[in-house]
Amino acid sequence: MIKIAFNQFNKILDCASLSPFNSWYFFCLLMNHINNHNLNIYNMTKGNINVSVENIFPLIKKFLYSDHEIFLRELISNATDATLKLKHLSSVGDAKVEYGNPQIEIKVDKKGKKLHIIDQGLGMTAEEVEKYINQIAFSGAEEFLDKYKDSAKDSGIIGHFGLGFYSAFMVAEKVEIITKSFTDAPAAHWTCDGSPEFSLEAHDKTDRGTEIILHIAEDSTEFLEESRIRTLLLKYNKFMPIPIKFGTKEINDPEHEPSTITDKDGKETKEPQRKITVDNIINNPNPAWTKQPADLKDEDYKDFYRELYPMQFEEPLFNIHLNVDYPFNLTGILYFPKLGQDMNIQKDKIQLYQNQVFVTDNVEGIVPEFLTMLRGVIDSPDIPLNVSRSYLQADGAVKKISSYITRKVADKLKSLFNSNREDFEAKWNDIKIVIEYGMLSEEKFFEKSGDFALYPTVDGTYYTYDELFNKIKANQTDKDGKLVILYASDKDAQHSYIETAKAKGYEVLLLDSPIVSHLIQKLESTKENISFARVDGDHINKLIQKDDTEISKLTEEQKTALEALLKEVIPSEKFMVQLEAMDSDASPFIITQPEFMRRMKEMQQTGGGGMFGMGGFPEMYNLVVNTNSKLVGDILETKTKNKQERLINQSLDLARLSQGLLKGEELTNFIKRSYEMIK
Ligand code: ADP
Ligand code: MG
Repeated sequence: MIKIAFNQFNKILDCASLSPFNSWYFFCLLMNHINNHNLNIYNMTKGNINVSVENIFPLIKKFLYSDHEIFLRELISNATDATLKLKHLSSVGDAKVEYGNPQIEIKVDKKGKKLHIIDQGLGMTAEEVEKYINQIAFSGAEEFLDKYKDSAKDSGIIGHFGLGFYSAFMVAEKVEIITKSFTDAPAAHWTCDGSPEFSLEAHDKTDRGTEIILHIAEDSTEFLEESRIRTLLLKYNKFMPIPIKFGTKEINDPEHEPSTITDKDGKETKEPQRKITVDNIINNPNPAWTKQPADLKDEDYKDFYRELYPMQFEEPLFNIHLNVDYPFNLTGILYFPKLGQDMNIQKDKIQLYQNQVFVTDNVEGIVPEFLTMLRGVIDSPDIPLNVSRSYLQADGAVKKISSYITRKVADKLKSLFNSNREDFEAKWNDIKIVIEYGMLSEEKFFEKSGDFALYPTVDGTYYTYDELFNKIKANQTDKDGKLVILYASDKDAQHSYIETAKAKGYEVLLLDSPIVSHLIQKLESTKENISFARVDGDHINKLIQKDDTEISKLTEEQKTALEALLKEVIPSEKFMVQLEAMDSDASPFIITQPEFMRRMKEMQQTGGGGMFGMGGFPEMYNLVVNTNSKLVGDILETKTKNKQERLINQSLDLARLSQGLLKGEELTNFIKRSYEMIK
């Protein structure tokens, strides 16, 4: 009778499925089942309760794993474990065998409706089959690791929960195990047809190792398709440590150099290339991340990137090799791809492995959100892989892993910046999104970012925050002692404003990533007494207010008259008119968009941070009228109303034109009017 090792039962719940709902459901069903069938619970001594369940198989089939295809991953993991155990035993002298170059072979027998998984590992005696197979949820892998504690901790043994083997019943109606232990014990043949009864007999197998034969069930015949199996092997086993053979392939015989034959007419033909048939090995047993960084060259990292993403033609910008064994075990390589401005790049490209077995490409919760834009692999035996996501996020080890990765990324960025600043600056545009996003979302990363986060100017100079601060503090501090950092988001659209600011000797940054308004907000709230102002936010004298204010050439009366006149012509729902005494040669009319409103609007568009409800922002502009300009004086003095209006409209349209706000019919009218004026 097949039994469940009940002291392990909580583990079933943990790993039964990625969804907590499923595992709980599974548990309830099982309990129900046990009650309904008056199943006997016996062997109560020493807390090792074995429950015999009349028929657990339908339950396994339905609820053990949400994803049936993982049975193959589990069986190959067992075959790998069996091989690694033998390797370990022979290395510590507990197995006197020739280890050789063992393989794992997968064979599809479509006609016979069978799938074979064959290994050359340590095998099992009949007693071991009783112990390890007939007890569900008893993990031989854990037992092995306990026994060989120190020496085996880096052996890469995969098994954990003692549930992997039974996943075979999700796709098979009958399972056979033919196994020969590396010891002298005779081979054993175990068969189970999905009822709790099994048969265990002797077998004449003589070579060491185990063959698992799955008699694929009617509803799972997809697993008899060679292409389906190949896809699965490439998905889950591409980097497993023991070579996996799946069929054979023809290659050019490396020993054979085709010679050129000249026939009797003098015609030359090349002898056909001789082909040979070799094992088709699916996996790369030694992927780059399992090696030491010192043993890898830049080219090796790039090659591995191509191996991970064969369809990706763009090269990564740089990589980060993760390698830690205390207080948790983690290896991996992360790559920075070229990101550019696009926030919507395909995320979730990082693959998560456990001892070289692919687990998932959803690393949410393990890798900080901002790093999900990166690519690469993470491998850790310490991440509780099969448990639910919410549990994962609360798990202490996982939190540590996440902050370790954040720190490693920050350190790497710092060292790249320090070792080759020029190169780092050249890459800035492609990596800034990740960095800025990280600064916003991870406090620790924000603290470290001072060492490498860059603030480029419109002229292509890259400053760190401190450098920028020192550069501009003398010139760009306003009369209240506040440092004003000027920036533009679009060099062309804001050209005239940028020029005006530069004429005053001010530095103008070019901050054009989609989340920049959030970042600015964050910087303003963490750094003392600074504010950011976009160059088109107001007239430059207002953006950075100094003590020396210009004297207005207009009297108060004239100003009132001007205001009344402008009100008549300019639509008040679109523009807030604001009279300003400025340099006489500054533009007569300037359209600006107040920093606060614009920034809130942008923040709302890129998610979060807005103070108003969705769509709550009217398109509002200021019209700054330079009362000291000659044109404004002329408008005031013009006698005919008609002409005054024309001058105002023309000036307004010119101001709108320079902001890119003149479009459609209004643009057509403007052009018509302009031609008439120069006629
Ligand atoms: P786990 O791998 O978590 O220990 P499994 O249910 O996958 O649990 O397997 C149960 C046990 O059965 C293994 O620990 C191992 O002792 C034994 N076993 C399974 N497959 C093989 C195999 N191919 N060769 C030798 N032993 C095996
Ligand atoms: Mg297993």
